[in-house]
Amino acid sequence: MSQVLPKGLSSEAFHARADAIAQAAKELAALGWTPATSSNFSMRVDEAHAAITISGRDKGHLGRDDIMLIDLDGHAVGTDARPSAETALHTQVYRRWPEMQVVLHTHSRTQSVASRLFAAQGVIRLEGWELQKAITGFHTHESVLEIPVFPNTQHMPELVARVDAWLDAGKPLHAYLIDGHGIYTWGRSMAETRRHLEALEFLLACELDLRRLSA
Ligand SMILES: [Zn+2]
Repeated sequence: MSQVLPKGLSSEAFHARADAIAQAAKELAALGWTPATSSNFSMRVDEAHAAITISGRDKGHLGRDDIMLIDLDGHAVGTDARPSAETALHTQVYRRWPEMQVVLHTHSRTQSVASRLFAAQGVIRLEGWELQKAITGFHTHESVLEIPVFPNTQHMPELVARVDAWLDAGKPLHAYLIDGHGIYTWGRSMAETRRHLEALEFLLACELDLRRLSA
């Protein structure tokens, strides 16, 4: 299955994204955050397209052939490959924020356990942690970083609507958890998005430890 690129979109631009996604996926897989072919990753290519992982591939061993082009409605462009089942959650980010370039979604054990633990509250309130400053726009540990936990569903429009409702209520959003599932976060570059993901993984692990130790 080969990827045909639309006129005006250079193969260099697409390959640079595909390589960056494959490299990030390899590193995140090595951390154990993408078990059993789960997780998905994307990068914006231009104002109308993104590169995204093809469904069901082992994220530790991605090559250029495992990344495909989609439009911002989530349709495959120039390929018969099937994009990730959760593509709509990626394109939602690119449609809402023109400056966002990368979306990372992983299923680590910490993310999964935290999502179950906080599902009833519907939100994790992070407060007093120095590492909150790793999230863009947060400058002090005294701020409150809210990470919503949305119910899991296989019906993506439902999740898209929950994300929209959170944002339309005027609340800041840098990431969200899905109950029993994993985390989504995004940023203006791969480095910023990796920083968000690593900081959130660390913060969630700290919250879990606190509960374990104060039981
Ligand atoms: Zn997932």
